[in-house]
Amino acid sequence: MSRQQTATWAAFCANLGWPTSYRRGALIVHGGSPVLLIPTGALIDRQFLAAVEDAESTAIRLGWPDDVLIAGGNPLPAVRSYLRSDPVAGLLGEFDSAEQEYAFDAGLWLRCDACGRMGVYHELRSWHLRPCGHYAEPQERHVRGQHVPAIGRAWAEATYSTQIARSAT
Ligand SMILES: [Zn+2]
Repeated sequence: MSRQQTATWAAFCANLGWPTSYRRGALIVHGGSPVLLIPTGALIDRQFLAAVEDAESTAIRLGWPDDVLIAGGNPLPAVRSYLRSDPVAGLLGEFDSAEQEYAFDAGLWLRCDACGRMGVYHELRSWHLRPCGHYAEPQERHVRGQHVPAIGRAWAEATYSTQIARSAT
């Protein structure tokens, strides 16, 4: 991933109220349920699946003990989800200690009822939100595209501000 992509994702996280720090090409998103965000250029399922192996080895190399989010070329990529109609953020991986490997499935966007920030939950595994760590009631989860404009705005602002920063150097 490029430095530019990582900078854009860091600005995007800031726009969502997610505290981050850099860790060798990836971003640690801090919170009650921290996640290692790995920027890639992926836009469709096949490209995300191709990024899984690298993401796993990055997490293992960094000694990262928690969840991993494979982020794409934008925060609303064309990744299929199976059970829920919330928009997809990327591929979210949870470490399965029995299998000693990450299980990756769609990570879905949802605004947290408890803290009001956007978060990502794992479609086929734990429904707590990353990075805040709160759970919302399951019936509150079917919000479909309701949050898409806010996510798109946060991304547009992040792209704009990092391009300005780059052109100033
Ligand atoms: Zn929350």
